[in-house]
Amino acid sequence: MDTGAPHKLVIIGSGPAGWTAAIYAARAQLQPVVYIGIPKQDPGPVLPGGQLMLTTEVENYPGFPKGITGPEMMHDFQLQAERFGTRVVQDDVVRCEFSPDPVKVPHTLHTAENGIVRAHSVIVATGAVANWIGLENEMRLARSGGGVSACAVCDGALPPFRNQPLAVVGGGDTAMEEATYLTKFGSVVYVIHRRDSLRASKIMQERFLSRPNAKVLWNKRVVDVLGDKVIEAVMLEDTVTSERSRLDVRGLFVAIGHTPATKFLAGSGLELTEKGYLALNRRDSYTNLPGVFAAGDVSDEHYRQAVTAAGMGCVAALDAERWLAAQGVD
Ligand code: NAP
Repeated sequence: MDTGAPHKLVIIGSGPAGWTAAIYAARAQLQPVVYIGIPKQDPGPVLPGGQLMLTTEVENYPGFPKGITGPEMMHDFQLQAERFGTRVVQDDVVRCEFSPDPVKVPHTLHTAENGIVRAHSVIVATGAVANWIGLENEMRLARSGGGVSACAVCDGALPPFRNQPLAVVGGGDTAMEEATYLTKFGSVVYVIHRRDSLRASKIMQERFLSRPNAKVLWNKRVVDVLGDKVIEAVMLEDTVTSERSRLDVRGLFVAIGHTPATKFLAGSGLELTEKGYLALNRRDSYTNLPGVFAAGDVSDEHYRQAVTAAGMGCVAALDAERWLAAQGVD
């Protein structure tokens, strides 16, 4: 139980957005407390550090010419935040009671293990979780780096995928974007879609379909992933005839949408978009509630990159700092 004075700033989430917010807030002497979450299976792994904890090599974050692994990067972000006095708590925030006047009556956050914590301002940076098909072998090979991934932009350029047959599951814009990206590396890129028409916008469809090594497998769903240490094939089932077939691939990229981590905000009064993301003003991190800010994938359904999340974390910390100063909290 946190019975002391309210914190100036609590940050919920420990991906690039949360840690960047913490670095800025700590340097601004806001003594931020970061709730990093408790590891769980959901059904895929959800870890403190977020989606980067499931990414092998990060090659597109500026400043790392030789690349860096996702977990190493998150470890370093944390060290940098701690260096300036960030306090780190391994716990989940499970419910929020946001106050209409958080200077007089601080926000109250209920946690899974430590009771309640009170804060004048909060940055929500809980990210989003990639949706998985939910197959046991899919999750096993995703965890072990065995060629199953939910992010082609993160992993697709890695050597094991070069000149190999690759598959993307899904029929939306993300699937098209990932599949188009993969055509640069794979010998052939199959899009496996459960219906006979794509949900993706025409332009994204055409971009993929115009590649010579692009192929769509219609009315198919993946029912198993085969391979011991690395993926060798997927087992497909026709959604019309139920016929099963084997497709040899060396990479499987699941692109069936993301779910923003906003469940714990139910009933809090925070405004969400139609798709469940936190709604923000276009260029800043202000939510509809005073003293509540958001950053990273939880409030970004479009870009979803480590570097954009980090930028949003910086914006949220600056917004929180200025808001606290304007309220006379120092
Ligand atoms: P999405 O539009 O929700 O599409 C998800 C796709 O996955 C759908 O085709 C869906 O099939 C399929 N799917 C869902 N669950 C499945 C399951 N269990 N097994 C097999 N297939 C499954 O998600 P998204 O593609 O990630 O896009 C999200 C939002 O971001 C969209 O608004 C999109 O326009 C936007 N976006 C934009 C860009 C861009 O403009 N550059 C790029 C990426 C994303 P059904 O079609 O049968 O439902």
